Amino acid sequence: MTADGCLFCRIAAKKIPAKILHEDADVVAFADIAPQAPVHVLVIPRRHVASLKDVGEGEAALMMKLIGVFNKLAKELGVAESGYRLVSNIGDDAQQSVPHLHLHLLGGRPFRWPPG
Ligand code: AMP
Repeated sequence: MTADGCLFCRIAAKKIPAKILHEDADVVAFADIAPQAPVHVLVIPRRHVASLKDVGEGEAALMMKLIGVFNKLAKELGVAESGYRLVSNIGDDAQQSVPHLHLHLLGGRPFRWPPG
């Protein structure tokens, strides 16, 4: 998939509007357009990676950056103490709908387990 054909690449490049909550050279985070909780943010690598399945050892530093931004946003958005959930859907059974790696940061309400 080319950057031009990928929704989240286009959001990262600001070709499609989104409520951006964080951006740096490697990582972008923005509000989910259809929030499933009071806090629902997507944290993505700027570089196109299709899903967690495609992450290799070469992406170790990038993954640490993603988690760092994820935890920073949890603090900034006020859910660090109450708890929050990290979800990353991979492939069809998990209902991944956008083939660009993204970490869902969900918080602000209690969640059930197991997920549906
Ligand atoms: P997934 O189903 O795990 O691939 O998650 C994709 C997420 O992207 C869903 O939660 C959608 O609501 C969200 N989404 C789709 N289009 C946009 C958009 N234009 N801006 C922000 N979030 C979006």
